[in-house]
Amino acid sequence: MLLRAAVLALTTVATGMAVAGATPAGAWHQREAAIMGTRIAVELWSPTEAQGEAAIDAVMAEMHRVDALMSHYKPESQLSQINAHAGAGPVRVDRELFDLIARSLDFSRLTDGAFDITYASVGYLYDYRHRVRPDEAEIDSHLPAVDWRSLELDPANSTVRFRKPGMRIDLGGFAKGYAVDRSIELLQARGIEHASVSAGGDTRILGDRFGRPWIVGIRHPDDANRVILRMPLENVALSTSGDYERYFDENGVRYHHIIDPRTGHSASKVRSATIIGPTATQTDGLSKTAFVLGPEKALEILARIPDIDAVFVGPDGKVYYTPGLAPPAK
Ligand code: ADP
Ligand code: MG
Repeated sequence: MLLRAAVLALTTVATGMAVAGATPAGAWHQREAAIMGTRIAVELWSPTEAQGEAAIDAVMAEMHRVDALMSHYKPESQLSQINAHAGAGPVRVDRELFDLIARSLDFSRLTDGAFDITYASVGYLYDYRHRVRPDEAEIDSHLPAVDWRSLELDPANSTVRFRKPGMRIDLGGFAKGYAVDRSIELLQARGIEHASVSAGGDTRILGDRFGRPWIVGIRHPDDANRVILRMPLENVALSTSGDYERYFDENGVRYHHIIDPRTGHSASKVRSATIIGPTATQTDGLSKTAFVLGPEKALEILARIPDIDAVFVGPDGKVYYTPGLAPPAK
């Protein structure tokens, strides 16, 4: 996930900005909140205090709305309704949720199945906070239900059906990115031109900081205070996934929240993966690829997608880059 260090860096730039002084009348407004089980941070430039605060209110309301639609913790959410009933027959859902589920299948195709919202068929057997994990027999019995090809979507009726028993879906793999994108669109509709919105490790940046880029840092997987890379960014999204976010260690093995759909185990081919691209839905969805497929295969896949860059930290600390980000050869 994107770091505290990253936030620190942003704050530093904001301070420098005031000194530079070449800005129109107005001010930066900031707020943080805990929504969707994560830290939401909004920072934006607004000509008036009232407009700035109203814009931030709108973002927070949108985060709550997306959470209510997709949370698997809330039994009344449409997502929970799918999980409860789509095994028995088609479940009709709002177009927005239907389209997102359809979109998830694009990511599954694009990533050779590394991204798979049916990972939840096994994923829900883990409880990281309480150090609960399934044993091999449990994994074996649930693994056949991890299969995005067995999700049946009917666009005409906006329904979802599971073709296999025991299937479950979870949109946690790109819900935060989606909420961030929606938030940025809301801000643009309000005339905001300079903003950063983060939901945990998913961030999207609108505009620059008046002639300067936003500075974003990627943390070291084992040290939240160490930044391995600092990047100047404008008008992009970035997502960082790490094995240090939700996890527990047992007998030298790290059990964490990104699941390899082929094995049902935590996917550990990298320690962290950062994706940079046009939208946070994309960068969030793609940030699991290297965990499941490994850095080399992930770089090969990402090279086929326009406007995507990536930085991975391997298990041995080796850093992998897409050509667009690689430091110049010494
Ligand atoms: P965060 O949820 O904090 O944004 P990530 O972006 O790293 O963290 O996403 C991890 C989440 O993705 C997990 O908590 C789970 O909801 C979901 N997930 C785990 N494995 C997969 C997978 N193979 N495909 C799609 N989503 C996954
Ligand atoms: Mg994410």
